[in-house]
Amino acid sequence: MESLIGKTLDELTAVVRSLGMKDFVARQIADWIYQKRVGSIDGMTNLSLAHRKQLQAHYQLGKCAFSLQQQSTDGTVKYLFPVSNGGQIECVMIPDKERITLCVSSQVGCKMNCLFCMTGKQGFSGQLPAGDILNQILSVPESERLTNIVFMGMGEPLDNVSELFKVLEILTAGYGFAWSPKRITVSTIGVLPGLRRFLAERQEHLAISLHSPYPDERLSLMPIEKAYPIAEILQEIRKYDFSHQRRVSFEYILFGGINDDRRHAEALCRLLKDIPCRVNLIKYHALPGVDLPPTDAEAMVPFRDYLTEKGITCTIRASRGEDILAACGLLSTRAAKR
Ligand code: SF4
Repeated sequence: MESLIGKTLDELTAVVRSLGMKDFVARQIADWIYQKRVGSIDGMTNLSLAHRKQLQAHYQLGKCAFSLQQQSTDGTVKYLFPVSNGGQIECVMIPDKERITLCVSSQVGCKMNCLFCMTGKQGFSGQLPAGDILNQILSVPESERLTNIVFMGMGEPLDNVSELFKVLEILTAGYGFAWSPKRITVSTIGVLPGLRRFLAERQEHLAISLHSPYPDERLSLMPIEKAYPIAEILQEIRKYDFSHQRRVSFEYILFGGINDDRRHAEALCRLLKDIPCRVNLIKYHALPGVDLPPTDAEAMVPFRDYLTEKGITCTIRASRGEDILAACGLLSTRAAKR
């Protein structure tokens, strides 16, 4: 049965019209789902009993509890959710002082096959509908205390643009969560058609997975470089203003002896010199069977300091949830089952 969670106001209006109800009922339903966070259609008590029965005959609310929860020693929690195509996905709650960030998944697995990523090794088994993406946000125990959402979980969000955009609309619209787009970051490896739309139509922050300033090296880490070279991605980004409200950051995983030396730091500065941005340096979490060495923690510091000296805001991102396979590059529902 189709879910109500994940429907935009326009889609809910189409639903109520198809059931012979007045348009204002759509707004009441949106209010129950996204603001009052109701647990069932029966709980929508300002809808008449007849309307609730009608809705129940054709739709389910679509709220679904997680099936497994793993807690890291650092406070990070990973949740496993069943999804409507029969698969499973993971999302990760990362507490940090006043901030509580949820890292959500946008696909079941991923087809992009980045060398350093466990989700890529799992393969792709389906797009997540908006309802399954939003359910992660609505059904974690911390739901009402979340301060930030990052689309950095399983899958490539800009390979699922139509469903992603519905979720972003619901998160930021007055009828939905009414969040500022500044609380949301969409992370991509650079799927150009989706990126063009995201830049033009949305206002949320952007994170780009870069990992090497050299195209041939980047290609050996990320097959996407062949279809959508980083030079074209940067060209597109330069058309927009990232100096005020909206932020672009570049994610850079450091691999020992591969991309962590001064030559790479210099090339990175040249590549990004005319883009107001920040760079997040990320520790590589080694994967079995992948010939990529992690960098020494000490090597990250001079790399960061060089970028900072050159005027690029650069941080070494703390690794969170490594002990429960929740850290960057480690999400996989196969791993979760183990
Ligand atoms: S890094 Fe992102 S895009 Fe690449 S395989 Fe993993 S989930 Fe997919």
